[in-house]
This record gives sequence, structure tokens and C-alpha cells, in this order.
Amino acid sequence: MEVAAARPQSADMTQSAFWLFLTMLPAFAHDAEPPTVTVHLYNLAGVPDGILNQATGIVHHLYAGTGVELKWVRQTASVARPGEGNAFRPRATPAEVSVRLLPKELSDGLVRSGSAKLGFVYPGEKNAYRYLATVLYDRVERAARELYDIPLPLLLGYIMAHELGHLLLGPDAHARGTIMACPWDTGEFRFVKRDQLRFDQKQRAELRSQVSGRLEAAARRVTADVAARVPAGN
Ligand SMILES: [Zn+2]
Repeated sequence: MEVAAARPQSADMTQSAFWLFLTMLPAFAHDAEPPTVTVHLYNLAGVPDGILNQATGIVHHLYAGTGVELKWVRQTASVARPGEGNAFRPRATPAEVSVRLLPKELSDGLVRSGSAKLGFVYPGEKNAYRYLATVLYDRVERAARELYDIPLPLLLGYIMAHELGHLLLGPDAHARGTIMACPWDTGEFRFVKRDQLRFDQKQRAELRSQVSGRLEAAARRVTADVAARVPAGN
């Protein structure tokens, strides 16, 4: 918190009480501030900035509607190597997840050619946090053009929102009539085309709860990390 940086070196009792009050503020303000999850974005497919900015804008808006804030961080390092999928954790905190957009040459090695998949999340162990969502960009591009006649940034945004949904809600989160429908039927696609498909009330509550839980787990880990670095005997 910026205010804390101006903290005087020698505070009297009144000032101490004041600072204590300030440090307690986030706890009271918790409900007012949307829980935020950091999304590391790996554009390995070379998606043009214009398309990517529009797509992430759509994802951002869809999650804002659930009360969850997304903080985007563009990354450049490759996370395409086999074996990094399920266990991939860029910062090893549950408050951060990653989305990678893959080009055809990498998609083809991961998904059967006949599969209709546009993206996926490694299911991972039950009750374990999932960190990495994959979007098969060449397939999304083709589906937007040939299958659905839908603007590419719109479809890309909705696919990213769906896969992010799996990271936070789990692999079994499919539900008809929502962003988490799979596959989207004609009715759902009509809503995607109008940018009107959404998370339902239950999903919105669950997303907020999951992100809050991840933030608490991340905070606990930081505390544990700091405690571990304090030399014994101090
Ligand atoms: Zn799905």
C-alpha cells in the first residue's frame, strides 16, 4: 500500500494506532474490492496485437460481470514444452494463472487432428489448483471463419473465458446456457455472436469464491515463505 511507504520511523502511540487502523482497512474493504487474479498471457501463436487486445478486453468484461478482476501480464517465455502443462506454475502462487495461445505446429502435437477441441485445461488432481489454460489459436481462427462466421476476437475471447473458467471452476464445470457450455449449441452461439453469453449466478458466486480462496492461499504461502526465511533464534 502506498500510504505505508511514508510511515514515520519513530511513531508515538497515536501514530501507531493510526497505522494499525490503516493496516486493518483492507480487511474491512475486502467486500468492496473485487478479488483479482493475475493472468500471464503467452502469445506463442503470434496473434496480432489488435485481435489479442480485443479478445482480452472481452474476457476482462465477462469476468468483471462476475465480480472478478483480471490483471493481465504479457509474457514471452515459452511454456510449450511437454511436461510443463499440468505442473506449470510461473510464480507458484495460486493467485496467478497462465493462458497460452498455441500455433498449429504446437497444437498438432497435443491434440488429435480429428478432435473438435479449440482449447483445454489439464484436469490435474482433484481439489488441486490448476494453473495453465491452452487455446489452440489456429483452430479458433479456422472455426471463426469457416464454421461459425463470427468475428475472430469475439470467438477467441469467449474460448479464453471458457478455459479460464475451467482453471477456476474445475474440469467438470460444463453447464448449458452459459459460457461453460460444451459444445456451444445453436442457441448459445447466437448469444456468443451478440456478445451476450454469460456465466450464470451460481458460476459467478463460485468464481468469486474460488479467486478469494486462491488469494488467501497465496497470502498464506507468502507468510510461510517469509517465516521460513527468518533465521532460527531471531
Ligand atoms: Zn470446457
